[in-house]
Amino acid sequence: MADKVIVKDLRKSFGENEVLKSISTTVKEGEVLCIIGPSGSGKSTFLRCLNRLEEISGGQVIVDGYDITDPKVDINKVRENIGMVFQHFNLFPHKTVKQNITLAPVELKKMTKEEADVLAMQLLERVGLADKADAYPSQLSGGQKQRVAIARSLAMKPNIMLFDEPTSALDPEMVGEVLNVMKELAKDGMTMVVVTHEMGFAREVSDRVIFMDGGYIVEEGNPQELINHPKEKRTIDFLNQVL
Ligand code: ADP
Ligand code: MG
Repeated sequence: MADKVIVKDLRKSFGENEVLKSISTTVKEGEVLCIIGPSGSGKSTFLRCLNRLEEISGGQVIVDGYDITDPKVDINKVRENIGMVFQHFNLFPHKTVKQNITLAPVELKKMTKEEADVLAMQLLERVGLADKADAYPSQLSGGQKQRVAIARSLAMKPNIMLFDEPTSALDPEMVGEVLNVMKELAKDGMTMVVVTHEMGFAREVSDRVIFMDGGYIVEEGNPQELINHPKEKRTIDFLNQVL
């Protein structure tokens, strides 16, 4: 499989505070990579460096063959192919579910309004919310909002999806419905990088898990290895707390 994301010696500082210290990894096409680690370890910053939501302080990030650290690269074009889903859904409150989904692809001239409408309904079907097309976000539960946020991302037809703790803000009974949508996406071959505390998801769905601490990749491996048989003390301590 082709390399979708190549990260070489990535460094990121905020002022004096170096929060990513020489991160290197490669994400293959169709791979599901989970990133775990304590709060403040740099997980979100790492994810945000992959679409240059954060300026990179050093090293290289290559996405789909584009070196996004190169100022000549049109970052907006690259970003169109990278979907991102956050902990908080950031839906537009005054637009319906369907309008939330069709907005970006139409504005960015990816498709006509009619095409976007058809796609929105397909995507809502896929996340189990076709009956909510005309509802407003305030009428939805947290889990439903997050599924709409995923559908909205997919409307841009990305080939990489980044998730930053997509279920952390949800009531426990809604976590499963969002993870199921993500599981289906993984099964369909989407390349995914997922920051999560859901060890069950990491174990079941991911191809590889990275444990980060203090801005470093402390340990990485397949989920069975890393979650069931961690080698590093810091990984063991962290897993003891979350499992
Ligand atoms: P995680 O997602 O693992 O909890 P973050 O990537 O959010 O960790 O944060 C890593 C470190 O970077 C933290 O010490 C945090 O305070 C710092 N940090 C994150 N974003 C900023 C910012 N915009 N400005 C300054 N410091 C930041
Ligand atoms: Mg975070």
